[in-house]
Amino acid sequence: MTATPSSSLPMAGLAPGRPVVFRNATVLTLDDGHHVLDGADVLVSGERIAAVGPNLAVPDAAAGIDAAGGILMPGMIDTHRHMWQTAMRGYGADWTLTQYFVWYYLNWGKTFRPQDIYAGNLLAAIEAIDAGVTTTVDWSHGLQTVQHADAAVDALSEVPGRFVLAYGNIQQGPWEWSAAPEFREFVSRRFGRANDMLGFQMAFDVTGDPSFPEKAAFEVARDLGVPVTTHAGVWGATNDDGIRLMYEGGFMTPSTIYVHAATLTRDSYNRIAATGGSASVSTESEQSAGQGYPPTWQLRQHNIPVSGRTAPASTSRRTAIRTRSPTATCAPRTWSTSPPGAARGRSAWTRSSAASSPARRPTWS
Ligand SMILES: [Zn+2]
Repeated sequence: MTATPSSSLPMAGLAPGRPVVFRNATVLTLDDGHHVLDGADVLVSGERIAAVGPNLAVPDAAAGIDAAGGILMPGMIDTHRHMWQTAMRGYGADWTLTQYFVWYYLNWGKTFRPQDIYAGNLLAAIEAIDAGVTTTVDWSHGLQTVQHADAAVDALSEVPGRFVLAYGNIQQGPWEWSAAPEFREFVSRRFGRANDMLGFQMAFDVTGDPSFPEKAAFEVARDLGVPVTTHAGVWGATNDDGIRLMYEGGFMTPSTIYVHAATLTRDSYNRIAATGGSASVSTESEQSAGQGYPPTWQLRQHNIPVSGRTAPASTSRRTAIRTRSPTATCAPRTWSTSPPGAARGRSAWTRSSAASSPARRPTWS
């Protein structure tokens, strides 16, 4: 750390392994205090953020980028993206939710082979990184077999970003696919070792059926020590009855993520708040597909952590960007600390949807 700040830093000279310093940016740290630093620098060394602050002293070899007038923020976290559907992207932007269900799940989703899942995930992962989304929760409810799931992970592993596979299968009830021995074998085989770049969650919805068949899937998640993500408060997904059943069963935890969380009653918001859960809001999807007003105000009234933005989704719907994250630069793989869900068993954000069997109830996006 010998060089001092200079207004005549070279603008280029980027090379693998060479430190980079961004100068005089407005830095959104997104730390716990939500600090914004005006005229600050960010030094990236290797794959890590080495320093953040004004007038940083940096290595002589560092390449400099004049970021004056720009905003520098961490890589974003997308807490809800159905990456497998990217092969069908562009369809349905103006459809009703029912049209979406029929096309994506009943007409075509059923026909997806593992290689189709792979193709969708690979494209979506590249797209996410290209957009500055350095962590994506893959709400993957098209995993009809573990071969599909292996294909999903294979694709995510090939792209230099951080991903969380939220395992789901909309073609079965969660109590069915989560009970299969091959599911546990898959989890052990692909996520048995800590991997800072790849996390795991379970993704399914709760129908509100008084017999609470989803209880068995929650018990599997508890046994595995993985978070559950669930669509909530929208048609066909976890409603107030479902949330009450989750609450009474002790399955609402700080690691539980409620996607959308629209049109719920005050009781449900209170239950989410009391158990420390968080919400993933997808405003474009909620408003265009008739899923209710985005519940951001309700969530804030209850002090429930909520996603802050929407971004292009693989299906042109249903994506939420979460910006509550550790400080990091805009470059992939430069997190200063691990984001949620990065490793198995850690708090993470998922989403899933799988309701009961499609014959009983269409589910959901
Ligand atoms: Zn969804």
